[in-house]
Amino acid sequence: MSKKIYVIYTGGTIGMKPTDSGYAPSGNMQALLDEKLPSHARKGLPDFDLVEYEDLIDSSNIRPQNWQQMATDIADHYEDYDGFVVLHGTDTMAFSSSMLSFMLRNLDKPVIFTGSQIPLCEPRSDGLENFVGALSLATDERINEVCLYFNGRLMRGNRARKQNAYLFDAFDSPNFPWLGRADINIELNEALLLKPENKPEFHLECAEDTQVGIVQLFPGITAQWLEAALNQPQKAFIMRTYGTGNGPDGDPALLDTLKKATDAGKIIVNLTQCHRGAVHQDSYAAGSALAEAGVIGGLDTTTEAMFCKLHHLLSKGYSTWKIRELVGHNIAGELTI
Ligand code: ASP
Repeated sequence: MSKKIYVIYTGGTIGMKPTDSGYAPSGNMQALLDEKLPSHARKGLPDFDLVEYEDLIDSSNIRPQNWQQMATDIADHYEDYDGFVVLHGTDTMAFSSSMLSFMLRNLDKPVIFTGSQIPLCEPRSDGLENFVGALSLATDERINEVCLYFNGRLMRGNRARKQNAYLFDAFDSPNFPWLGRADINIELNEALLLKPENKPEFHLECAEDTQVGIVQLFPGITAQWLEAALNQPQKAFIMRTYGTGNGPDGDPALLDTLKKATDAGKIIVNLTQCHRGAVHQDSYAAGSALAEAGVIGGLDTTTEAMFCKLHHLLSKGYSTWKIRELVGHNIAGELTI
């Protein structure tokens, strides 16, 4: 029996049209796809049903409610389709593919995010290739996880990052190999793919409106600046540090601010500002000082994935201690242990 894919169109460049203030989300994706991919050109492709969200967004407007909408939609249609494609803006696609990897637990079907750098309505668009590739991958029974497909690269959704605003190669997976590549043939790196877990069965976990904050170290950062950030209502923060997780250990007031915040129950996870690499707080004294102040090392998790992981763990209502412990545990393939 031929396979059927459920395609969700959330907005993003792929469906945008030019306006006086630049490209903006636009509807009628079905008509656009029918024009670019007429039925006689669909040989070898699966059938698909397309749902277009009422509120199409530039993905820089993404909010937890949007994640809840996408994940619930997939869960509601889970039994009726063989796979899922999410058309999404590239700016925050890595956040959404990460978040859905934590919300859609124990998947045994592919969920593939894609989009484009140039809208489908433009002559040089990369949208059609990305869509067709994602559609083909969404039929592949070897894939049981949330992935991001872009310009021939198949990446784990919670390992991908937007790395280039200009190239068609907009995404990479800096700390984990690509899961596959689409050239003349589509080749998957099967050893890396997540295996389906039958128990518990596929289920949806919610993304409550709890939020996570991100602070970034910079030369000359003061204790007051950091304190103002950590005094925000967020319960968990990512602190983007230098190199393998180093910070200004020569500033006792700053370390004291961190210690007071972690003693008060704030969760602070150390991730590196480097595009590639992992945090090991014990490599340097400047990193050990952060650990002594209660900061937790986030290993090689990307900022996007850690943001969503913390969001997920907070949504589950876990205690501070449980969350501190789970930061270093692999939940959905997001870190290398
Ligand atoms: N601003 C757009 C968005 O994220 C960029 C894109 O889709 O490429 O929605």
